[in-house]
Amino acid sequence: MTTVAHLINGELVTNVGRTAPVFNPSIGEAVRQVALADQATIQSAIDAAKAAFPAWRNTPPAKRAQVMFRFKQLLEANRDKIAAMISEEHGKTIEDAVGELQRGIENVEYACGAPELLKGEYNRNVGPNIDSWSDHQPLGVVAGITPFNFPAMVPLWMYPLAIVCGNCFILKPSERDPSSTQFIAQLLHEAGLPKGVINVVHGDKAAVDALIEAPEVRALSFVGSTPIAEYIYSEGTKRGKRVQALGGAKNHAVVLPDADLDNTVNALMGAAYGSCGERCMAISVVVAVGDQVADKLVEKLVPKIAALKIGAGTSCGLDMGPLVTGAARDKVKGYIDSGVAQGAELVVDGRQLSVAGCESGFFVGGTLFDKVTPEMSIYREEIFGPVLCIVRVGSLEAAMQLINDHEYGNGTCLFTRDGEAARLFCDEIEVGMVGVNVPLPVPVAYHSFGGWKRSLFGDLHAYGPDGVRFYTKRKTITQRWPQRASHEASQFAFPSL
Ligand code: NAD
Repeated sequence: MTTVAHLINGELVTNVGRTAPVFNPSIGEAVRQVALADQATIQSAIDAAKAAFPAWRNTPPAKRAQVMFRFKQLLEANRDKIAAMISEEHGKTIEDAVGELQRGIENVEYACGAPELLKGEYNRNVGPNIDSWSDHQPLGVVAGITPFNFPAMVPLWMYPLAIVCGNCFILKPSERDPSSTQFIAQLLHEAGLPKGVINVVHGDKAAVDALIEAPEVRALSFVGSTPIAEYIYSEGTKRGKRVQALGGAKNHAVVLPDADLDNTVNALMGAAYGSCGERCMAISVVVAVGDQVADKLVEKLVPKIAALKIGAGTSCGLDMGPLVTGAARDKVKGYIDSGVAQGAELVVDGRQLSVAGCESGFFVGGTLFDKVTPEMSIYREEIFGPVLCIVRVGSLEAAMQLINDHEYGNGTCLFTRDGEAARLFCDEIEVGMVGVNVPLPVPVAYHSFGGWKRSLFGDLHAYGPDGVRFYTKRKTITQRWPQRASHEASQFAFPSL
């Protein structure tokens, strides 16, 4: 069985101690293993990044951007290969894998604007013969810890921007589907990135703790579940690091009686069941305003769920693949059991799905619950599977109260034709990313991504303008060149005009 190695200082390193199996979830079998870094391995990555930093920091931003231009070309040239690698280990369909890669490439494109992004601000004559400017300088060695559900896109939210800002990066990807992440990082060297500027270390809690504890690591970006986000935020900030930790979600779609229900149902199908529901922006709750809306949604959703094309992620033309692991499948089935036990109406049950030729794969079929109430665990908790819950309310205000009371605030969407309702929703909803007739309002690369409440810990959102702020520290320089002959008296009052 082959081993996915670490990438340290431009070299593949397999000083194998502990390992973990990597599965193909479509067939339910381990296909390779991944090395799990110990403290010494993490330290060697930190040493490599630290050694690379002085030269990289002083490399002109335009030269750093040229590496990203070549990287983008290599990503495009390797699109099919990368999509196949993602699908094999994650289980998402090939088309979905291509989509996530494309969104990641858009972050590389944004990073190509480094000289413009780092321009700073300048004022001549802020005082007599005094000029002042702000400079955005790199932090040094920074690290990112990423989840399994977007093995290409989420790392690409982080390191292209961190690197063009002049930092050296250590990436700790998910140990469940590490191959595409690893391959993509290697392309950076082909694009001309100096050794040590990017390093990839695989691992679990031990590797993450070593990154948290290392004083050389100045900033941590994390994307994953909320308990781990909270842990990394509190442990990292305690040690004086800059931390941005994006967590879990429970995304509601509100459907008003005036919405175009056919389009709404089509949008809900993709947003709830795409990627088997394993997206932090997946719609997992529909809040139907009025019983009539709820009844019609159920009537239209049921045949579409029955018609979902489900199979091995590596095939084309499918709607949905398996869940990522056997444990994930069991957890999702457990939530369906609990929904039944707590009194929700199970309209479509995906627990018994079997896929011909993939009988040992980690599949759960599309599932629909109606008459879900806020105290049920299927409503409160993140299921992260193909389970859609309908909650019935009487008004837009009641729908908004429900969303605002939820502990998560990642994404939400309103389906309506009413501009006044849409404006109220956008103004008053306590959620970081809002769609109006857009089910997955994932911001484009030149905006920034982030939720509110327990979906994000930290002050800045990921990528885009907030990403530049996160990966740089501002230095403001005030400069005066007095004329040689001038006599300057001491000034004891606070300087002002
Ligand atoms: P996870 O929290 O299990 O793992 C994320 C990362 O943390 C991985 O690299 C993992 O190795 C590491 N990790 C796991 N256990 C750890 C521990 N005890 N201590 C330190 N590190 C640990 O998340 P996942 O299952 O890979 O991904 C799914 C979760 O990520 C969902 O909750 C989803 O909502 C969330 N997510 C959020 C966003 C967002 O932008 N808010 C995006 C994608 C995924």
